[in-house]
Amino acid sequence: MMKIDVLTLFPEMFEGVLGSSILKKAAEQKAVDYHIVNFREFADNKHKTVDDYPYGGGAGMVLKPQPIFDAVDHLKEQAQSTKPRVILLCPQGKTHNQKIAEELAKEEHLIFICGHYEGYDERIRDHVVTDELSIGDYVLTGGELGAMVVIDSVVRLLPEVLGNEESHQRDSFSTGFLEHPHYTRPADFRGMKVPDVLTSGNHRLIDEWREKESLKRTYERRPDLLENIELTSDQKKWLREFENQKK
Ligand code: SAM
Repeated sequence: MMKIDVLTLFPEMFEGVLGSSILKKAAEQKAVDYHIVNFREFADNKHKTVDDYPYGGGAGMVLKPQPIFDAVDHLKEQAQSTKPRVILLCPQGKTHNQKIAEELAKEEHLIFICGHYEGYDERIRDHVVTDELSIGDYVLTGGELGAMVVIDSVVRLLPEVLGNEESHQRDSFSTGFLEHPHYTRPADFRGMKVPDVLTSGNHRLIDEWREKESLKRTYERRPDLLENIELTSDQKKWLREFENQKK
């Protein structure tokens, strides 16, 4: 079972997200054990202060090293895990993606550190953290939403969590391509028809249509993704078709 610890000053933010839908089910079926910790509890001063003014002056408060160092030591000891991935949510980190989610899904123990205020004392980054992750080039008020995004992307990849293994293997980015379009009943909605092939019952043709549409969508929306993929001869032929259609 994967263990996920989250260090935050706002534990209540996680209740809705981890207590709903697939993330909740994953915990119920013991694929994951979440542990949300308010690191204020680890502050060793009378007023449980976790932040302080920055050396050198300037605006904003900085998270002190002591509560976070002590909290991480405690979590490592409790889990008896020597090498957890300690992930700092941070706009300056590597931008999260499917590949990182797949890599994290193989770990046994993840510890997320959610910042707030102006930032962290740099010694946290230098001595406690193994990975710094950002969820995009914008600044949030805290790391909680980022941690939830990363946790969701990882937990859905754990074995058996989605029920049918297929359901994430064809997802956008898992294959390297964006996913093909989907349709459901009715086959004709206000004159808008589902592509004939999908109602043909011919699974070979359906698979081929999906593969081609997936390539088309990637070509149209994220051509950069195609640079890293070794295309099959069929895919190269389809790509030439799309390029010619565009001319
Ligand atoms: N002063 C910092 C800077 O310019 O890099 C921004 C601090 S931000 C107001 C407070 C906290 O929100 C950060 O410490 C981090 O935990 C979180 N955060 C903000 N933007 C984020 C992003 N794009 N991805 C992940 N976490 C983010």
